[in-house]
Amino acid sequence: MKSYLGIDIGAGSIKASLVDTQGTVFKSTSRATGVETDEKQFLDSLCDIVSEMKDDSLIAVGIGSPGPIDSESGILIESANLPLLKNVALVDHLKKNFQIPVYYNNDANLAALGEYRFGLGKNSANLVILTLGTGLGGGWVYQGKLFNGYKGSGMEAGHVTYFPNGSLCGCGQRGCTEAYFSASGFLHRYKEQTGHTLGSAEEFFDKSRKGESPASTLLNEGIEALAQLCRTLIHTINPEKIVFTGGLVKSWDLFGNPLRQRIQEIIFPIFRTYTQILPGGNVSGALGAAALCMENHE
Ligand SMILES: [Zn+2]
Repeated sequence: MKSYLGIDIGAGSIKASLVDTQGTVFKSTSRATGVETDEKQFLDSLCDIVSEMKDDSLIAVGIGSPGPIDSESGILIESANLPLLKNVALVDHLKKNFQIPVYYNNDANLAALGEYRFGLGKNSANLVILTLGTGLGGGWVYQGKLFNGYKGSGMEAGHVTYFPNGSLCGCGQRGCTEAYFSASGFLHRYKEQTGHTLGSAEEFFDKSRKGESPASTLLNEGIEALAQLCRTLIHTINPEKIVFTGGLVKSWDLFGNPLRQRIQEIIFPIFRTYTQILPGGNVSGALGAAALCMENHE
């Protein structure tokens, strides 16, 4: 038997699963991370996890993390939620310690691979993933292969312009789709308009659900921005499915139908007949990271 170790680096923890070639998880573990995690603790935790999980069947390790990363060099450049980490060469570190192939990519790309292998995008010939979380990420699997772009930074879909010179985005530019539909975008725009800071996206969605202004207006603008992004993607790469993942999908009942309806209104009639817009996100990040090993070992 062969197995892969998928590791998902997040703001609060590093989660890992050992899976077989069919994606069956037979062992999982995790280590805590936080704003105080420094490079040494971080690398030690990764090594700990590999030591704990590895057995004779293990043939590769796949790792996912938020970006920006340099997937070619295996470097985590920085991460907003792990502020002490800068330019960490995690792939080299693990290869040196364990003499095993290690693959690394950003979490949105791995969400795409995870949905392609094990989720709603299973075996889709042309699958787009949009991750709705703190930010808005994108991933694209075309004919079974993850699209990486020239240097691994393709599909930064959240930074497609929705409104030139519009709301300030986390990337420093204005008017990106992410500034209109993401947890950070909603909270930032809400504060801009009311002066009040909300604690979480859930709080924002609760207010929208009750029809409170300006939350419901901001959500409607967000839906428009997201629909326009989907329109751009549908017309440029003609996906079979666009699957949404990430924490905000929990509120799909609130925005899913109006989003679908708006997309239908603004795309070519032929695309309306077959393009599927779906809420996904039930595939874990660790399983997505294991899928990266599978892609490289077939
Ligand atoms: Zn941006």
